[in-house]
Amino acid sequence: MAFADARKTRGHYLAEVVRSERVTPHMQRVTVAGDELTRLPRHGFDQWFRLFLPREDGTTDFDAVPEGFGMAGYLKYLMASSHTRPLFRAYTVRGHRPESGEVDIDLVAHGDAGVAGPWAQRAQRGERVMLLDQGRGFEPHPSGEYLLVGDESALPAVAGILRDLPRDARGIALVEIPDPDDAQPLEAPEGVEVRWLPRADPLAQPGRLALETLRTIAPVLPVGVYIAGEQTLAAEGRRHLVAAGVPKHDIAFTGYWKVGRAG
Ligand SMILES: Cc1cc2nc3c(=O)[nH]c(=O)nc-3n(C[C@H](O)[C@H](O)[C@H](O)COP(=O)(O)OP(=O)(O)OC[C@H]3O[C@@H](n4cnc5c(N)ncnc54)[C@H](O)[C@@H]3O)c2cc1C
Repeated sequence: MAFADARKTRGHYLAEVVRSERVTPHMQRVTVAGDELTRLPRHGFDQWFRLFLPREDGTTDFDAVPEGFGMAGYLKYLMASSHTRPLFRAYTVRGHRPESGEVDIDLVAHGDAGVAGPWAQRAQRGERVMLLDQGRGFEPHPSGEYLLVGDESALPAVAGILRDLPRDARGIALVEIPDPDDAQPLEAPEGVEVRWLPRADPLAQPGRLALETLRTIAPVLPVGVYIAGEQTLAAEGRRHLVAAGVPKHDIAFTGYWKVGRAG
């Protein structure tokens, strides 16, 4: 169950911001809506998309956004004017109400650096965005046993996976968060233990605590593993589990972001 390749997934959807609220100390929920979003396929679990954002000067050319993000689509985007093409980042569907064409996006409020995090904190009703569907990375595992690991950027993915897993699934979900108040209500199967891991040190690198905790766990085999978040958590977490005997093909892992690097 490798993290699925999204390059063949197609479909973009224009939408407008309808709401933006701080749901926990470090998570901003932006709700976007539009007629086109009534047609967004529901892939469930960790369904994700590329979020194309409005430029601050208001000259955003959403025609620069391709229908898919394979080689041809990416080239189309790169060939559009760098002054008007929208910048983009990857996000997860936190909530989806197809009947009203609404999608909730939970964006980590990680400070003033970057594009999407700071945008979420000032997003205004009526601002236009575009979502490029990328399908989902997670696939259920035949064993029904799971080990899910993420930092706060992967909280929406872990929440979606727990919501959509069969109710008889078993296992553990480790979710590192900046603050105890960043925990959110999750719809987890009864047999999956959710462990919130608040960082005691506000300056600690995100993902380190989840990695340290993962290293104390002897996985129950066979198991389907999903690890997402800061790059070191994903790479080192996978390395640890392979050494602990988990076959590589049972581990879906992806570095969502990297300390000190944009995009
Ligand atoms: C498939 C996928 C799904 C994702 N889903 C979500 C999601 O639902 N919610 C979510 O919040 N993120 C999610 N991410 C991660 C998100 O795309 C990155 O965090 C992205 O870098 C944020 O863009 P930015 O413009 O805010 O910051 P950037 O311009 O990319 O980076 C600017 C600076 O901020 C730092 N930075 C970036 N993200 C974080 C962070 N989370 N915490 C601390 N510092 C950070 C960078 O290291 C850099 O120094 C997902 C990523 C992938 C690949």
